[in-house]
Amino acid sequence: MNTRKAQQVITGQATTDGAGVDLVRVIGQPALMDLDPFLLLDAFRSDNPDDYIAGFPPHPHRGFETVTYLLNGRMRHKDNTGNEGVIEPGGIQWMTAGSGIVHSEMPEQQDGLLEGFQLWINLPGARKMDRPAYQEHDAASIPTETREGTKVKVISGVTSRGTTGPVSQPLTDPVYLDVMLQPGTEFIESLDADHNAFVYIINGEVALEDTEGNQMKLARDQLAVLGKGDAVALKSSDQESRLLLVAGKPLNEPVARGGPFVMNTEAEVRQAFSDYRDGNF
Ligand code: MN
Repeated sequence: MNTRKAQQVITGQATTDGAGVDLVRVIGQPALMDLDPFLLLDAFRSDNPDDYIAGFPPHPHRGFETVTYLLNGRMRHKDNTGNEGVIEPGGIQWMTAGSGIVHSEMPEQQDGLLEGFQLWINLPGARKMDRPAYQEHDAASIPTETREGTKVKVISGVTSRGTTGPVSQPLTDPVYLDVMLQPGTEFIESLDADHNAFVYIINGEVALEDTEGNQMKLARDQLAVLGKGDAVALKSSDQESRLLLVAGKPLNEPVARGGPFVMNTEAEVRQAFSDYRDGNF
């Protein structure tokens, strides 16, 4: 077993998006523009409706996938192809924007805690113009693997103990685990050596080895990019801790970003803007 070391530590940056939603941008900011195939990671957590009530009114996407995972609160999504639904606590929406979709993502609540994440996962150039698709799974359909002092919600991928998440995406083969650790608990998990991977701390404090061989501590809202290896070894401090462990197969293709569109070339991004303006989504 070759354990992956923390290669780079990123602290999420407070920002505002949508119609005025306060969030923490972890991937997709100057310190970490992307981690192939991951293009963006936003975390939102607030019990103040002023921070989230404006939501994300209708906006387009093309060329990648958006994955919304809610821990607390409810979000209603609605798109121009007639899909509509509410993501409930513990539920996930895995949207393949493909050739283009116009959707809104609005809090389905007037007050209370809203907490969750949105991850953007790239699509290979040959599949960016596929028809839009959804994989939606409520909390009950996401399996929880129990280990000593540990609970792992498996959203996507297969754990070393064989628990399989409900989402399927062979193009990037993503692993998406929500890991809850009791104080002082070690968590060891195998990861595909070819995947890029990161750990993001939701709560508590987690130690892992850095490239110098020292144990370093990651705190809430920090992300560690994991170096090469086929396993990860983490240990919670004296606090209960919760983290996301995410990995995926890099696409190794050029990335051209233009707001809500992520293509391979600038010309394709311009085409996306003009297709959207012309109502061709
Ligand atoms: Mn969106």
